[in-house]
Formats: sequence, structure tokens, C-alpha cells
Amino acid sequence: MKLFDMTKKYGQATYAYPFEPYEIVEGYRGKPSYTYEKCIGCTACANACPSNAINVKMNESKDKLVWEFNCGRCIFCGRCDEVCPTGAVVLSDQFENAVKFDKENLKERGEMDLQKCEICDRVFTTKRLIAYDLQRLRKAGWSEEYLAQKTKFMKTCPDCKREHSVEYVSNGFGVGGEK
Ligand code: SF4
Ligand code: SF4
Repeated sequence: MKLFDMTKKYGQATYAYPFEPYEIVEGYRGKPSYTYEKCIGCTACANACPSNAINVKMNESKDKLVWEFNCGRCIFCGRCDEVCPTGAVVLSDQFENAVKFDKENLKERGEMDLQKCEICDRVFTTKRLIAYDLQRLRKAGWSEEYLAQKTKFMKTCPDCKREHSVEYVSNGFGVGGEK
């Protein structure tokens, strides 16, 4: 009876969920939502993820970069959201993440084309990442002539860049260059 009295006095303290929708508070950290079209394959999210819920691997035989997310491993810390430069992964307000039987349904996947080095022909980054960098340089006001030179530099793998560093620096597009 004491409890009934308290309920009467203070009102209902619990929610009727799942019979009624549950209202999410602002800033709630729910399931990371992935937008494949925005992803450039930079791997920042995979490097920042403390629980290995996000993995990014190169499939060299297919010239593809494979982005994978396993919600079963996610601790909803939000690091992926913080570091993603394009907003491809953002925490949503989704909290109903259970799957019925197949744990594969907890996973998401995206594949994107890899770029081959113009000198040694080995894959080393994604085509999307190069296009993204070029777009940013263009927005920053670099000339088309400079961008054409820079494209060659960007399509060269780190090993070949090291080998040809003197040539690149003397051409002015390795580490700086004119606008
Ligand atoms: S929210 Fe945290 S644990 Fe989950 S995928 Fe992002 S970085 Fe990894
Ligand atoms: S940080 Fe963003 S853009 Fe980079 S791989 Fe992850 S989801 Fe894609």
C-alpha cells in the first residue's frame, strides 16, 4: 500500500516500451549508420575503433577495398563518427539491434575500387580517396595545371614516392608547388 501511495504521489516512473515507442534523448549513441556513397575508404574509422567492430581490408586479387562493420562488437563509443571526414559513418538513434537467428545480419559491408600505383602497378589506396583529395585542392583554389601534376603524385604509392622523391620535389609538386 505504501508503494501505491508513492506511485500516486510521484506519478509513473517507467515507460510502457515496447507497447509504446521509446523517446530517445538528445545525444543518444545508437547504432552507427553507414552511407556507402559517402565513404572514401580512408580507414580512419577502423583505426579509431577500440573494439574492432569496423575492419577495413584490401582484397588485392579483386582490386577492392572492403569496409566491414559488425554491430555485435560495437560498444557505441562514437569514435568512428568523430573521425570520419565525410560523415559516412554517424551514430544514429537506433537501439533495437537484436537479430533473430543469423548473426550475419549484424554485419554491414561496402566495397570500393583500389588505385594502382602508376609506377609499380601495386594497389595502395582507393580511387575515391584520391578524387576526394583532388576535390578539396580544387576548392582551395589550386590551378588545373598544378592539379594535373598533383594527380600523378597522388597516384604513386608511398614506396615509389620515396624512390622518386628528388624528381618530385624538383618538379615542385611533391611537397608544395605553386597555386
Ligand atoms: S561506435 Fe565505437 S565501437 Fe562502435 S563502430 Fe564506432 S568506433 Fe567502433
Ligand atoms: S572514416 Fe568514414 S570515409 Fe573513412 S573509411 Fe571510415 S566510413 Fe569511410
